[in-house]
Amino acid sequence: MFILSFALFLACDSGRTVYSGGTIFTMDPENRVVEAIGIEGDRIGAVGTREAVLNWAGERARIVDLAGQAIVPGFIDAHGHFPGGGVYAQVLDLNAPPIGDVEKIDDLVALLAKRAEETAQGEWVVGMGYDDTLLEEKRHPTRQDLDRASTDHPIAITHVSGHLAVVNSMALERQGLDQASKDPEGGLMRRDAKGELTGVLEETAMDFVHQEVLDPSLFDSLKILREGSRRAVSQGVTTVQNGLTPARLIPAFQWATRLGLVAPRLVLWPAMDVADAVLAGDMTLPEAKGPDLWIGAIKLSADGSIQGYTGYLSEPYFVPPGDDPLYRGYPRIARDELRERITRYYGAGMQVAVHGNGDAAIDDILDAFAHASKKFPREDARPIIVHAQMARPDQLDRMAELGVIPSFFSLHTFYWGDRHRTLFMGPERAARMSPAATALAKGLRVTIHCDAPVVPLEPLRLVWSAVNRRTRSGFVVGPAERIGVMQALRAVTIDAAYSMFLDDDLGSLEVGKFADLAILSASPLEDPTTIDRLSVIETIRGGKSVYTR
Ligand SMILES: [Zn+2]
Repeated sequence: MFILSFALFLACDSGRTVYSGGTIFTMDPENRVVEAIGIEGDRIGAVGTREAVLNWAGERARIVDLAGQAIVPGFIDAHGHFPGGGVYAQVLDLNAPPIGDVEKIDDLVALLAKRAEETAQGEWVVGMGYDDTLLEEKRHPTRQDLDRASTDHPIAITHVSGHLAVVNSMALERQGLDQASKDPEGGLMRRDAKGELTGVLEETAMDFVHQEVLDPSLFDSLKILREGSRRAVSQGVTTVQNGLTPARLIPAFQWATRLGLVAPRLVLWPAMDVADAVLAGDMTLPEAKGPDLWIGAIKLSADGSIQGYTGYLSEPYFVPPGDDPLYRGYPRIARDELRERITRYYGAGMQVAVHGNGDAAIDDILDAFAHASKKFPREDARPIIVHAQMARPDQLDRMAELGVIPSFFSLHTFYWGDRHRTLFMGPERAARMSPAATALAKGLRVTIHCDAPVVPLEPLRLVWSAVNRRTRSGFVVGPAERIGVMQALRAVTIDAAYSMFLDDDLGSLEVGKFADLAILSASPLEDPTTIDRLSVIETIRGGKSVYTR
């Protein structure tokens, strides 16, 4: 028996595998769709007609019949915060349906109270993902609401945008914050009519929540990494990103990838204070040039989020959040400081990625990129604007001139499109949010992303959203900005690889590249209106199966 199976093993093992019998999207420069692909070890050995690939493979190759399924390059997360949704292994999920099940403030208080009961006295209770505009009350919870859940535990909950947090009275006390405390630069602590803190903290005022509260123990971290990995590969993702990595997490991720705890490949974007420390000689970055871990662009945030009313616009919000009809958000980093920082990072030869949602923030970013690239010209700098949500056509022209890659959060139209029309931007501006089609028409290279855990890392839903621009209510918001299926697929594969300087090794199915691919239940071209309902059958990273349905 042993001898027989050993012989069989030999008979079909030349270390080469051929996939054929389905639709194989290469995403090469010609967007070729081919009959077959051959893999040897961790690389792609052949791509083309079935006959040619079988010839390359030889007689002892393993042959896999796709039976009408499709293959795409493994998805690459152009911007997210790995382990993303993995944090929900540890932190309360306060999202509204369809992601979670919080519909009103009482739901949220009940979840927090239950978690507080299970938590040792005095320890933090943390939740993520509430959305004020989806709560029945249409407002942010306050510290009084959270005090109903517990006064024996400090509580912090973060808004779905990640740009606001609410804390209870004990948490304010612990941070030494009260009526007399001043707002930090680039942030705001909301106050009631009497000037007392409501517990709602915006932008830099909530930095302590990210830096101190959301700091899990090693044991928690392993669970979170495992859950984040599982979620990524189950969606066909083979390269993830942590798009704002603090200094202390860089060695942690380095160990995690070295120990094989992260299933997909990982790109880190160090936070700007990491760049400052490196340039001051206080810190060195590890050599990380793949194939498991890369250190990529330096990440800055020029403003906040539109649905948190902290995106920085040139024109007022459609329905302002308070009494000021001219309210248009605010910058997170002052214009001059942004320019000085970006120029300094350019001078050191660093790639730079800047978060900008509102068009006023995008103006500041483009001015800074123009200044930096004039002072320190570089052939191939690949500067990125993350989200570029309200980019105007004239700003897309400037991006083309400066070689800027906009990375659109194209699931915005699905999750928040209805409210952008009626509340934040109004119908005219909402129609031009995440303007991928105009950007492509101007010759820009574009990526799209989920910003997980802001919304779940689901590249197929993301592609569907960029192609259809349907809101939750089914309205098509900005039909002129819909893009083709091939363009959307490029934006989550080869162009995402390009934006992070990974395109020599990843992002397309071409001979010599890593064998990273996803097998889908059907071709995304078959019915573009149902791409979100395709399933990932198998995910292969470096020739090895890392997920099977
Ligand atoms: Zn982000």
